Amino acid sequence: MCSIKQNLLQVTDQINVAARKCGRDEQTITLMAVSKTKPASDIEQAVEAGHRCFGENYVQEGVEKVQYFNTKELTLDWHFIGPIQSNKSRLIAEHFGWVHTIDRLKIAKRLSDQRPDTMPPLQVLIQVNTSGEASKAGVSLEEVEALAEQIDSLSGLILRGLMCIPQPESDYQRQMEAFAPLSALFNKMRSSRDSFDTLSMGMSGDLDAAIASGSTMVRIGTAIFGARDYSNKNSDTKN
Ligand SMILES: *Cc1c(COP(=O)(O)O)cnc(C)c1O
Repeated sequence: MCSIKQNLLQVTDQINVAARKCGRDEQTITLMAVSKTKPASDIEQAVEAGHRCFGENYVQEGVEKVQYFNTKELTLDWHFIGPIQSNKSRLIAEHFGWVHTIDRLKIAKRLSDQRPDTMPPLQVLIQVNTSGEASKAGVSLEEVEALAEQIDSLSGLILRGLMCIPQPESDYQRQMEAFAPLSALFNKMRSSRDSFDTLSMGMSGDLDAAIASGSTMVRIGTAIFGARDYSNKNSDTKN
């Protein structure tokens, strides 16, 4: 068995165990395979293993992969999870099904305007900066609901939920504390919103705590595809 297939099985197993531990139905948790910096041949191996949900961080690289797999007439779910520059928004709107990194109205408006009429509305998540670091992308917890209401009025978008990338932290209890505020806000908003069902949190290093905190979508790169080589990327885009 190829190692990517093996890794997918292992991560799926880890998700199932974590879900059972806290009494959750594992079917409510989606595994996104984060394929940034990895070649299409790696994605192909995951596809052959039955996987359909992928995440990309870099616009050009992601678009090339989406186009390549479109020619194979495979229906894959593509999620954009990287920072968004205005001049790249059109490519995102035209190629991805989901965007996890909405943190300002200007970008949301552009994506909505640029979403082709022939495609279903772009499914978006608001990125929240839960640790409050000035250097990090994302709106503060206090700003989320106002931005959500503004997104509601954009016909090219549908707001599906919230996303965060906490500071890397190896201690389980601290990981739980980092996820708690977003989880609470998500549950509060969910009770009064339609189609608001996605809490995107958890990466290779904090997957268990994310699931115990209510994550419905985990974004896993390293544990599936192995360590990444960034030697051909700018140092300021390492995320
Ligand atoms: C790279 C990345 C991931 C995957 O991280 P791993 O630690 O390799 O699992 C998840 N989410 C985002 C936003 C990323 O940029």
